Amino acid sequence: MRYVSTRGAAPSLNFEEVLLTGLAEDGGLYVPESLPQFSQAQLGDMAALDYPALAGQIIAPFVGDCIEREDLAGIVRETYAGFRHPAVAPMVQLDHDQWVLELFHGPTLAFKDFALQLLGRLLDHVLERRGERVVIMGATSGDTGSAAIEGCRRCRNVDIFILHPHGRVSEVQRRQMTTVQGEGIHNLAVEGNFDDCQAMVKASFRERGFLPDGRGLVAVNSINWARIMAQVVYYFYAALALGAPARPVSFSVPTGNFGDIFAGYLARGMGLPVERLVIATNRNDVLHRIMTTRVYARQPLQPSLSPSMDISVSSNFERLLFDLYGRDGAALAAMMARFDGGDITLSDVAMAEARERFASVRVDDDATCEQIARTWADCGYLLDPHSAIGYHAARRSATPGTPMVTLATAHPAKFPDAVAAAGVAEAPRLPAHLADLFDRPEHYSVIANDLQAVHAAMAAKIRR
Ligand SMILES: *Cc1c(COP(=O)(O)O)cnc(C)c1O
Repeated sequence: MRYVSTRGAAPSLNFEEVLLTGLAEDGGLYVPESLPQFSQAQLGDMAALDYPALAGQIIAPFVGDCIEREDLAGIVRETYAGFRHPAVAPMVQLDHDQWVLELFHGPTLAFKDFALQLLGRLLDHVLERRGERVVIMGATSGDTGSAAIEGCRRCRNVDIFILHPHGRVSEVQRRQMTTVQGEGIHNLAVEGNFDDCQAMVKASFRERGFLPDGRGLVAVNSINWARIMAQVVYYFYAALALGAPARPVSFSVPTGNFGDIFAGYLARGMGLPVERLVIATNRNDVLHRIMTTRVYARQPLQPSLSPSMDISVSSNFERLLFDLYGRDGAALAAMMARFDGGDITLSDVAMAEARERFASVRVDDDATCEQIARTWADCGYLLDPHSAIGYHAARRSATPGTPMVTLATAHPAKFPDAVAAAGVAEAPRLPAHLADLFDRPEHYSVIANDLQAVHAAMAAKIRR
């Protein structure tokens, strides 16, 4: 399997190379040259598989011959053995034809564990064989940091540095990062905001002088292809459980960066019968505005009750645009250059294709709270604010006779303030493995909002 850049001017790479790369050198994102295809008969056979076995089959063609089949199967099994529910991704029925797919049974209680638990293990496996080490650097305002740290805690060949804005992440989220112990794990609390942190990570990919000789720098944000790949699996798992391939299934996905829902789009491209894919956004509705107005335009960030979807640019949308524009890298490069300078408008042809594949719904904070309260009252089921946005959009977009699956992306105990704002009296409880989170010792360094200071701190900590 080869991977090509959406902007057409970077060399094509194999899986291992893509795993160790962030952005392509032409500024684009890597996508597979072609998608693996599964026939109806193959899908029928897959319906019998448990989650790790299914994941092994779906991921194998993307990995190609970079990792031995048996090694890959072992890595995948170990990855999902760490999840707290025996089904890994169980479903709960909330109404006739309405289901939620619980993706929050991993170590940090958000769906990002599905990808980052696997990514850490794949990286370590590949690095061990190459006899190399890398440095991972990321900025977080919430879920990504803790999921990345948990994913790398046992990696022998990785030093991970996660920057978060000091005093500006929730206590649960901070503690989920800073209470993880491991030799190569480092939390840097920067005296600045999230944008400062992110700018420092970007600058570090340009100015690599602080790294030991030859040490690679790897990105763990959702532009990393391996994350998308891991997320394709649960679309298959849910649809097969609900009767696919004989019966089509729809999905509603709370999304900001278009990573999670893009995985659903790929699943359909691989042969899974997916009827509708619903883009569910919060008030930061850049994706909904594209779908309704054709214009891709940045707007200032507005804080919401669903902070993990607070974005102004949707980076993975470029991967869809690449397909909508006939996989023409030069056309896309020109378009993204125009977007750097302002708004862009999608063509009629591209827009028609997008609307055929996706519906979209914008859900504000009031509607989010109403949905949390109503689902609690009707079913005794507590949705986190992100999943509530997905479920609200699912109810508005259902077609009779087709099961609709909402991706529940986080456990409600991660967002107790939103649950309280919805008027639910019962406070969501952290699961047993995190019950003592508030008693565990924290490890982090507070550091000036200054790139040189961050680089000096990193250089002192990177293992030689
Ligand atoms: C990251 C995140 C999202 C959004 O994911 P995308 O990749 O932008 O689609 C939604 N919900 C939760 C809880 C998240 O952590």
